[in-house]
Amino acid sequence: MTTTREQSSSSSPDRPDPHKASGPPGSLGIELSGVTREFRLRRRQSVRALDGVDLSVGEGEFVALLGPSGCGKSTVLRMVAGLDEPTEGRVLVEGRRPAELIAEHRLGVAFQEHALLPWSSVRNNVALPFRVAGRPVDGARVDALLDLVGLKDFVNARPRQLSGGMRQRVAIARALALDPDVLLLDEPFGALDAVTRRRMNFELARIWAEQRITTLLVTHDVDEAVLLADRIVVMTGRPGRVRHIQTVDLPRPRGHEVTREPAFHDLVDRLTAMLDEGSDA
Ligand code: ADP
Ligand code: MG
Repeated sequence: MTTTREQSSSSSPDRPDPHKASGPPGSLGIELSGVTREFRLRRRQSVRALDGVDLSVGEGEFVALLGPSGCGKSTVLRMVAGLDEPTEGRVLVEGRRPAELIAEHRLGVAFQEHALLPWSSVRNNVALPFRVAGRPVDGARVDALLDLVGLKDFVNARPRQLSGGMRQRVAIARALALDPDVLLLDEPFGALDAVTRRRMNFELARIWAEQRITTLLVTHDVDEAVLLADRIVVMTGRPGRVRHIQTVDLPRPRGHEVTREPAFHDLVDRLTAMLDEGSDA
């Protein structure tokens, strides 16, 4: 299998960031080097889920991790979230071990199973991270986030009273509650129908444009990756390796118009073909 790489020269050269001081490139984002993960199944049997993965996300950059089902995308994200450890290689976030950042509540995580508290209101679900961290709830921050995700009229609703898309927005607001340095999203819109999913993509693009938070999004949806990402890391089937790194040069903000651009479709077609090839291998 051929491996082609287009490293972008810089993650975000002209992007002012109101929240963070700029530091040396690479030190503030996410860095995986030579990451291999083997899962032991039985005594002498193991499965190699990831093999020698090098991947970086610059500060303030949005990177999508794209690959066929079972290629190790969630495993990558779990390692960045400090929920799993590589068998070989190294995972650093802001130059430190993920567990340290988790302990400081600097990572915001929203997975597909977003586990909202069913008996709690939308507002209390978004405020939960403050309670977990033992910090006083910043009500103004919670309200601002509910506004940001378009749920300010639903603050007292319970999760079951919301649509799937709304629940997912609650999960994203909650992931942002403590103003994390890094946002990790694992197929956050996986359970949604195509139309709602596309609408949520635009919402996330808008939220990201306001916050410019370092983001790693796992998806198997090519359109979603192209719409949202600065760069797309395409993985091979298991064992997951980095097959290609694609810089997405489409201008921002990317709204509905972008999905009608030939450049958008060219990129989607090329990446889709790459994924199809990979699944035949
Ligand atoms: P993806 O998110 O790309 O669909 P995953 O990261 O969930 O893929 O899984 C990658 C591979 O690792 C799969 O073959 C899966 O079965 C295996 N795997 C993941 N977690 C475990 C585990 N805890 N024990 C054994 N195998 C696992
Ligand atoms: Mg997964």
